[in-house]
Amino acid sequence: MPLTGNLLIGQRAVTGTQAAIRAIDPATDKPLDPPYAGASAEQLAQACALAWTAFDEYRETPLERRANFLDTIAEQIEALGDELIHRAVAETGLPAARIQGERTRTCTQLRTFARVVRAGEWLDVRVDHALPARQPLPRADLRQRQVALGPVAVFGASNFPLAFSVAGGDTASALAAGCPVVVKAHSAHPGTSELVGQAVARAVQMCELPEGVFSLLYGAGRDIGLGLVNDPRIKAVGFTGSRSGGAALCQAAQARPEPIPVYAEMSSINPVFLFDAALQTRGEVLAQGFVASLTQGAGQFCTNPGLLIARQGPALQGFIAAAGEQLQRTAAQTMLTPGIFAAYAAGVAALAANRNAQRVASGQAPQGPNQCQAQLFLTEAKAFLGDPALQAEVFGAVSLVVACDSDAQVRQVAEHLEGQLTATLHLDEADFDSARNLLPTLERKAGRILLNGWPTGVEVCDAMVHGGPFPATSDTRSTSVGTAAILRFLRPVCYQDLPDALLPAELQHANPLHLRRLVDGKREG
Ligand code: NAP
Repeated sequence: MPLTGNLLIGQRAVTGTQAAIRAIDPATDKPLDPPYAGASAEQLAQACALAWTAFDEYRETPLERRANFLDTIAEQIEALGDELIHRAVAETGLPAARIQGERTRTCTQLRTFARVVRAGEWLDVRVDHALPARQPLPRADLRQRQVALGPVAVFGASNFPLAFSVAGGDTASALAAGCPVVVKAHSAHPGTSELVGQAVARAVQMCELPEGVFSLLYGAGRDIGLGLVNDPRIKAVGFTGSRSGGAALCQAAQARPEPIPVYAEMSSINPVFLFDAALQTRGEVLAQGFVASLTQGAGQFCTNPGLLIARQGPALQGFIAAAGEQLQRTAAQTMLTPGIFAAYAAGVAALAANRNAQRVASGQAPQGPNQCQAQLFLTEAKAFLGDPALQAEVFGAVSLVVACDSDAQVRQVAEHLEGQLTATLHLDEADFDSARNLLPTLERKAGRILLNGWPTGVEVCDAMVHGGPFPATSDTRSTSVGTAAILRFLRPVCYQDLPDALLPAELQHANPLHLRRLVDGKREG
């Protein structure tokens, strides 16, 4: 399928009129064809107007039809075959196997949301029957369901060109909730975005849905991104990227005459706590696991383990030596974009220049442009507690060991941390007491607490939380991965004394959709 460089405004493929961007192959620094001209303000408005026009019809599509739409998107993405893989590899520098895995995850995600839509639990139907004889006042008939928020603006992520981009988790969960989606493609992978966008647009057509259910725009964040957030027809935002980008979108959304929620996933250094007994009994194995997790995908994961915390002593020294040896054997890897490489290089330079941090090991030297050379630094807890720069995220394979002199200091460091996507504990039974004391702090700090594992690798399932307090995300009540992500794009509506003839099917007396409803305090079905 030839790449056109066109925007997709509903079913219309049109050329933008603003400055064009081109993808750059980060492995060679060479630009890739075709150019992608940015959308004009009018084109952006057209996409939002179409989304708004589609909204009322789309949000009431029968569950089976909406689920079938999500399944059809997955089929259409798979039908793109190797062309999608080749383009994504060229635009991101990621290996083909990683992109293939991401395609599988993307399609599984879409099919998982299709299952969620069919089951209808997300409608969270509650019925409280009228109590006409209640004293001193009768009670009305009250019925609640969840309805879609409205058109959602989705920002494709640089580090997940498929699973968190055009038809990724934000789009899948918004479409599942009944929200039309307008995507701002990430400027690093416009060709991948176009291919997936065409697949979604085909699915819209095949499922005979209103065309405004999906549009895809290119252009600079400050024009298209802020334009979308400021458009009155957009009612929520999904974003994965930098802290500064997420904060700018949150501010813009709050400054609107009608403020809207922004679900931004931004910055997390994912602390890993290494306890004494675990370090003593299996320090080398832990070092291997750590380096594998740190260097996976050149460290360009939001769950990358950027901070290790442990009590100082021979066991920690042994761990650092083993991790250092492993790290020195790791080859440098191409990063996603020249900009991300520059941010990584600046972060490493800042750590290297910081009097409070000491470099203990580096990976192999780069062999080409934009390559990340893994780095391990060491600091003491006292310095860490006094220097906020030491907990700034350096996106890439960079980690800092914080050596503490006591359990109490480990807890102090944990208490000092900003909000995180994950917190990991490595421990043996002898460490249980130390860990138990730490858990209440970690529950306040992180969205996911893991034991004896590594934080990279996020399951798409019902129990997953990929969220956490600021700056991990802008809304600590939500998750952007897993089926609970749908809740971000819903709101409750209560219907008082409406007759069946005016109620949606899920709320009608006979329960025609056979949903498990909460009726007068008891679960039906
Ligand atoms: P980014 O610069 O935040 O860009 C993400 C998206 O937001 C792009 O589409 C960008 O538009 C747009 N954008 C950025 N700033 C904006 C603003 N002020 N107003 C409106 N839109 C804006 O993130 P990135 O390009 O993916 O990577 C840059 C850095 O983000 C990395 O070095 C890393 O630190 C961090 N990052 C973190 C995670 C994580 O999961 N924690 C993931 C990816 C990246 P443009 O097209 O104009 O760029």
